[in-house]
Amino acid sequence: MKSIMGKYHWLLAIVVVCVSSCAALMSTSSSDTDKEIAELISKMTIVEKVGQMTQLNLDVVCVGEIYKLDEPHRLDKDKLHKALVDWHVGSILNCGGHAYPRDQWLEIIGEIQEVATKETRLKIPVLYGIDAIHGANYVSGSTLFPQQLAQAATFNPSLSKAAAEITAYETRAAGIPWNFSPVLDVGRNPLWSRFFETYGEDPLVCSRFGAATISGYQGKMTDGAVDQQHVAACMKHFLGYSASRTGKDRTPSYISEIQLREIYLPSFKTAIEKGALTVMINSGEINGIPVHADKKILTDLLRGELKFEGVAVTDWEDVIKLVANHRVAPTLKEAVAMSVEAGIDMCMVPNDYDFTKYLIELVKEGRIKESRLDISVARIMRLKKQLGLFANSKMPLIKDYPLFGSPQHKEVAKQTALESITLLQNKNNVLPLKDGQKILVTGPAANSMTMLNGAWTRTWQGVDTTWDDKGNFTIYQALINALPSNVVFSPGCDLEKMLNLEETLKLASQSDVIIACMGEKPSTEKPGDIDDLELAREQQQFVLELAKTGKPVVLVLVENRPRIVRDIVDACAAVVMLYEPGDQGGVALKDMLTGKVNPSGKLPFTYPRYNHSLIWYDHKYTETLDQQFSNNAFNPQWEFGFGMSYSELKYTSLNISSKTIHPGEKITVTVEVTNNSDREAKESVLMFVRDHYASVTPAVRKLKDFTKIAVAPHSSQRVSFSIDESMLQFIGRDMKPIIEEGDFDVMIGTMTSTFNYKLK
Ligand code: BGC
Repeated sequence: MKSIMGKYHWLLAIVVVCVSSCAALMSTSSSDTDKEIAELISKMTIVEKVGQMTQLNLDVVCVGEIYKLDEPHRLDKDKLHKALVDWHVGSILNCGGHAYPRDQWLEIIGEIQEVATKETRLKIPVLYGIDAIHGANYVSGSTLFPQQLAQAATFNPSLSKAAAEITAYETRAAGIPWNFSPVLDVGRNPLWSRFFETYGEDPLVCSRFGAATISGYQGKMTDGAVDQQHVAACMKHFLGYSASRTGKDRTPSYISEIQLREIYLPSFKTAIEKGALTVMINSGEINGIPVHADKKILTDLLRGELKFEGVAVTDWEDVIKLVANHRVAPTLKEAVAMSVEAGIDMCMVPNDYDFTKYLIELVKEGRIKESRLDISVARIMRLKKQLGLFANSKMPLIKDYPLFGSPQHKEVAKQTALESITLLQNKNNVLPLKDGQKILVTGPAANSMTMLNGAWTRTWQGVDTTWDDKGNFTIYQALINALPSNVVFSPGCDLEKMLNLEETLKLASQSDVIIACMGEKPSTEKPGDIDDLELAREQQQFVLELAKTGKPVVLVLVENRPRIVRDIVDACAAVVMLYEPGDQGGVALKDMLTGKVNPSGKLPFTYPRYNHSLIWYDHKYTETLDQQFSNNAFNPQWEFGFGMSYSELKYTSLNISSKTIHPGEKITVTVEVTNNSDREAKESVLMFVRDHYASVTPAVRKLKDFTKIAVAPHSSQRVSFSIDESMLQFIGRDMKPIIEEGDFDVMIGTMTSTFNYKLK
């Protein structure tokens, strides 16, 4: 209990003693807000407190059945009254299944706030939360950005910060102040259906992009308050969700404490230091313990060690899952007790009042102390205050957010897509396309907006086109707009079968170059589970048929995760990783293919060559040993950090300021990047460090810093990094960070230099 209380120990003391002498104690509290919160809590009944800890799905208060609402979606006054006035529910989430225009959102949330602030006893506003995963995706007409994985490929976190600022603005424009984003899970299993939602495989990349995104969402907070153009971020899913052994969503992770601390924790730790206001819990289990029932993770680690003071919300139905799926609680009431004792503040129930009923019972029976509720309720009230809901829960006007969905906002989305596009192969400089070339555009992703956007686009899975916005261009549309007399389209193949093969091959032989846009159907969570990482066989067969025409094939990959393409890569002239770039991705790809823009994306993950050789870039030395006992076992299709440019970029002159580093010292590492071409190039420069020997097996390399530069044609730029002790640390056998004396390599490009760490 001590560590749950964290900073709130004084507040808890106030609440407990308030029963007898609240007024006297309040004068000792540290700020007016704290006093107000304590005072409010002192007036609340158990039912009101538990209500604040309850989060319901919008469907519960709408006309129709849950998951089958009447269209158009609208609130049901009786259901709303029941939730807010009878049960004192404090938070509502989601969208009833699909996006709404802004005016509909403002009407719905306006009505909810009207009831909460006028008809309830304590007039506490409702905290509305939504998944604005790659833009305000549940608000029709909003700007859609590339998915997180694509954003990471830019190696330019300032773009993600700008994207998050816009997402926050457009989310607030719909009256919503809380966003369940970013995903800070490290993408270590490429099979995972949510791989595209991560910032990839490396903890530093996840930390930097996560931090940039959170500062974009929350803005410059003054006195802890978020302004009306920003939202509360929600780092998710704490902790270890992405590490499932099978890659199937919400299946067990087995993570050693060293790995947990080395790989999965840093992005959350950095986000907490950045001031992330809320966290969502991992629906899965680690080493046999469901995280929703794990006090060590939710209280000792999150509150005690990381000093997180914000709101911890469960994920969807996860208290129910403690009984139904994890089977650690025989009854729902036990599950409620377990999760509250473990440390959750708010339960995304989300479809009934069972959590609420059982928690009330548990407090009345004395199994859970009312003072425990006070801790969570204080955090929730603080968040509502920070978001300005108490001061003003009125809905904004449409005209208050004139830049919503504007060309300026879309330009940032396009820029992000442009910097993410990753050129993986370019035989005989087939790209950029040459003037006058006849181009066949084909494949399932060639004319699909759905595939460009991915899941969380207007609907959860993103495949229902009913809610798509008009006016954006698919790959084919973008190309034909730019080159009307040179481009032809034929689908040739859908996701799983050949279509008009003969006709497509005929068009292929009449063309100079074939753009084959392949990939997978958007999906997330359970519906995205797969049994095989290979790109669908039929699509591979189709690409091979195209290649047989003798015309150069440019393979464009539009996919949720790196689907294996080993058998078709050699047959292709070029390979371009497009990820899921959002609705500006078609135009961005056109600019890259035609050479208007020089590609600068790099893979934020290791692209595997084989289904059963899923080895991370920062693997151990033992993982490099092959059958001949040579060190060639690490043989991915493309390595982490790989990505080509149209320019020839050379790295030379790696220098380090000293060959020795002592505690408290820094050394400077410089390198020269030269652009020997006629076009400007952007280049992400990645610095890796390798520990020669350590008491815990060292990785072959670890990314320690990166920066993105622009290099003018025929010129050079010096890039400088600094190495300090923290970059030489690792988690030791006692689970604490340590540094050991010895030699280290710093590696940039293909160059390496060695230095020594000495204690004295
Ligand atoms: C997902 C979360 C999401 C939540 C609310 C869950 O199924 O795991 O990432 O925020 O639903 O939609």
